[in-house]
Amino acid sequence: MQRSFGVLQHQQAMWKPAWLEALSTEKFFVACSFHEHAKKNEKNICCLDCCTSICPHCVSTHRVHRLLQVRRYVYHDVVRLEDLEKLIDCSGVQVICIVYTVCV
Ligand SMILES: [Zn+2]
Ligand SMILES: [Zn+2]
Repeated sequence: MQRSFGVLQHQQAMWKPAWLEALSTEKFFVACSFHEHAKKNEKNICCLDCCTSICPHCVSTHRVHRLLQVRRYVYHDVVRLEDLEKLIDCSGVQVICIVYTVCV
């Protein structure tokens, strides 16, 4: 089960796409500033095209973009590799996104 989750460790990346940077620097699971008063406004999605974190209400404006669901797993923001693979031509990326389950 644990193996399907990964924290993205960008330090080891030789080639770092902008969205990977965003994934590791953007804040997730905080309230969306555009939808402050909406329910379920936690930003739990990363838009790979805008390199930003968005909430479910923002999705409509990013519909045509590549969106990656971010999950919370033991205080870490993680993504499922399967999700990532769907979005990205992944053979190279898998090397880049060194996956480790909840250390730090
Ligand atoms: Zn977008
Ligand atoms: Zn929003």
